[in-house]
Amino acid sequence: MKKKSVKLKKKNLFFIVVFLLIVGGVIVYFLKPNVPLKLDVLESKEKTKETITDFENITYTKAIDYAEKQNLEVKASYDYSDTIEKDKIISGNIEENVLNIVVSLGSIPLDEFKEKQVNELGNVPIMMYHGIVNTTDNKYTGGNVDKDGYNRTSKAFSEDLEMYYKKGYRMIRLKDYIDGKIDVEMGYSPIILTFDDGNENNFKVIKKNEDGTLVFDENSAIGILEKFKKEHEGANVTATFFLTGDLCNQKEYNEDIMKWLVDNGYDIGNHTISHIDFTKINIEKTKYQVGALYQKLENIIPGKYVNIIALPFGSPYKKSHSNYQYILNGEYEGVEYHTEAALRVGWEAEVSPFNKTFDKTFLKRIRAYDNKGVEFDIEMNFKTLEKNRFISDGSMDLVTIPKNLEEKLGETNLKVVTY
Ligand SMILES: [Zn+2]
Repeated sequence: MKKKSVKLKKKNLFFIVVFLLIVGGVIVYFLKPNVPLKLDVLESKEKTKETITDFENITYTKAIDYAEKQNLEVKASYDYSDTIEKDKIISGNIEENVLNIVVSLGSIPLDEFKEKQVNELGNVPIMMYHGIVNTTDNKYTGGNVDKDGYNRTSKAFSEDLEMYYKKGYRMIRLKDYIDGKIDVEMGYSPIILTFDDGNENNFKVIKKNEDGTLVFDENSAIGILEKFKKEHEGANVTATFFLTGDLCNQKEYNEDIMKWLVDNGYDIGNHTISHIDFTKINIEKTKYQVGALYQKLENIIPGKYVNIIALPFGSPYKKSHSNYQYILNGEYEGVEYHTEAALRVGWEAEVSPFNKTFDKTFLKRIRAYDNKGVEFDIEMNFKTLEKNRFISDGSMDLVTIPKNLEEKLGETNLKVVTY
């Protein structure tokens, strides 16, 4: 019985195989003209037709390739991930012909953070400059142009920029610091430049070309900053200029300069209409001094200025002063104004925006002057900063801090990494 059954099965199998061969042959015969012979050709054809809806875990190269074939613009950002391998996509979506992807940087490189002494609770220097004067007069200490060092020589300012750079400081916008958006490469530190009073020598225009472009004095602050930009490829060059009612002190070019500044990575803030001491005026005048200047800026560069005030004379010295709330919020001629942050004259570096004591409405600055390394001059401050400077983790999504500083951390929406 057993034997017979096996025989039968063998017979059946034979017929099945023959049948399949015939059917297969017929199919191949009919499809032949349409079926490419080589397998890789078949695959590439399929690729162009493929629609990717879920980008997670595909490679960066594949995503870019796909975007090219679909004529999509690519906007990539990067983030660390413990689950998605380096160079693979964490998430992606298509919106109006733009492929937005978040690319994995792999796991958080704690060892590298440690080695580079990353500390996003370290201090940040906000430099306070006034006039930049093209003089070689060395009557005063170092690069000081006056006794108290409020104005600085062009040469000293240029050397300051080189010194900051060599020490690993990279310029960021004051506004970004306030918002906790510190876009600085891993291992480097942010620095902020500010200029008060709108001195002509900050952005002296020599001439305006026929095509409308401005030619700046190469020894003005802007002249020096733009030269620095050319000499340091890829370096972010920025500063915030705090103007009074006299704007850039160049009647003929005021509006051109202001537009040029905000179109070229610089910012403009409020230094009151007539450089007033807030402790010497009443509430109505306070509202005028602040509100009217915002309106002036709004008229010339609508929506492109920063709602930040540099307090003239650094006054008041205390936030408890009765006028302070009107520096921050008020109404002038029926138009409301809001000041997001205020700068004092100060003497030393300010805390990190992630520090729980951070108060953007009362920020300290470093006076950019020389005094042989004492009384909070530039040298002294940068020496102090060596012990406690903000050192970036290179990611805008993380706040990385040494474990022992944890208790200093304020509230944040960002991911906190400790080591
Ligand atoms: Zn001033």
